[in-house]
Amino acid sequence: MMRNTIHPKPLSIYVHIPFCARRCAYCDFNTYAWRGGIVRDTLDAIRAHIESTEADGVVVPTIFFGGGTPTFPDPELIIQLLDTIRTQFTVLPDAEISIEANPGTVDRSRFAALRQAGFNRLSIGVQAFDDRLLRVLGRLHTAQEAICSYEAARAAGFENVNLDLMFALPGQTLSQWRHTLRTAISLQPEHLSCYALTVEPNTPFYSLYQRGQLPLPDEETDLRMYQYTIRALTRAGYEHYEISNFARPGYRCRHNLVYWRNEEYLGFGPGAVSYRDGVRWKWLSHPRRYVQAVRGGGSLVEEEERLSLDESLGETVMLMLRTRDGVDVKAVESRYGVQLATHYAPVLRRLRQLRLLEVTSDRWRITPKGLPIANTVCAEFLV
Ligand code: SF4
Repeated sequence: MMRNTIHPKPLSIYVHIPFCARRCAYCDFNTYAWRGGIVRDTLDAIRAHIESTEADGVVVPTIFFGGGTPTFPDPELIIQLLDTIRTQFTVLPDAEISIEANPGTVDRSRFAALRQAGFNRLSIGVQAFDDRLLRVLGRLHTAQEAICSYEAARAAGFENVNLDLMFALPGQTLSQWRHTLRTAISLQPEHLSCYALTVEPNTPFYSLYQRGQLPLPDEETDLRMYQYTIRALTRAGYEHYEISNFARPGYRCRHNLVYWRNEEYLGFGPGAVSYRDGVRWKWLSHPRRYVQAVRGGGSLVEEEERLSLDESLGETVMLMLRTRDGVDVKAVESRYGVQLATHYAPVLRRLRQLRLLEVTSDRWRITPKGLPIANTVCAEFLV
């Protein structure tokens, strides 16, 4: 098995649990609707993988267990993984330790076990407070079960909870999205992630879309849903701190901010991505191949990419632009040793002329006009 040598600096950790009770119709994540021995074998392999990683002096400010559904396997196995990380690395006392959960895979006692083990942030995949839409999405829970899960999490002591929601769903009207959002606000979570549905290749939704059987809202409705989201959530006291993410003051997701600042992180588990020293790599995606490689000592790497300085700079600018704080010009200049305004002069001129970007000597931010097409604006900075 490959051994990693790690330098003593902050390094966030992501753990990928690639299993779900059932695959949703829109999902293209690396996840499998499997049960039984392979689930346990994979979690054992993740643990062995963490244990094989040399970690002297590394400090860990954030940990994120995602998937998949990390609350699908036995919570004791998940807790063992967290304990292994704590043994192997120096996890900072104030570390943010998040776990994703899906309604229907959790109850109060599972939440309590996770909270007691040290998880202090929970992200619940709700998607919609609308039973018809949940069925269309292929979700396994009802709106009421999502509310019960949220209440169980609160009762178990989680004081930092995110709800994941989706809009622009098949057949969804603006008033249905308003209902979902109002229900979410009434629950008073600390954080909300609101993403428009994207139809990804190799999903059941994609086949329906190609056959003209997926009645998605038109672009104008999609835009109105997004604009309503920003208005409603800011009015309710949430900071709009990233294109799709909203938080009460003091509750921005520190782990995701690591990604949006293009800082370093280490992933464990099938298909997990890591980024260190200008290299991004992905471990074997298929759980069986991952388990075999961990057990047998073969290469675990499925893909690896060394980024040039220009590529890394472009990604950093693109990722920082996703946040409403925008690009911290001085910080990026000292990190890369370039003068940003000169380096990107033609792009800046174009985006300013179109009133898509606000530019000062300290910050670059996407304008409200640019927000609905933020992905296109950000892509302008990629090499
Ligand atoms: S619960 Fe999440 S990860 Fe699992 S299949 Fe559904 S969308 Fe994909």
